[in-house]
Amino acid sequence: MAHTKKVGITGKFGPRYGIKIRARVLKVTAKKTKECPYCKKKSIKRASAGIWECSKCKAKFTGGTHVPIFTETVED
Ligand SMILES: [Zn+2]
Repeated sequence: MAHTKKVGITGKFGPRYGIKIRARVLKVTAKKTKECPYCKKKSIKRASAGIWECSKCKAKFTGGTHVPIFTETVED
């Protein structure tokens, strides 16, 4: 296994595609679970692009395409 401390899951790409775009991929894929804005449980899942669903309280809401937090933006 390669060293993935810095690059995380994007280590699978090796040196390809450039550091900027790999960092962006990392930011998008690293956040698997986030807090539900209704029940405050870390149980929201991405139902489809921009649609998030909480598995505990069944709340469905819109958010970012890959990141459920609305205020957070993926920066370059
Ligand atoms: Zn919830």
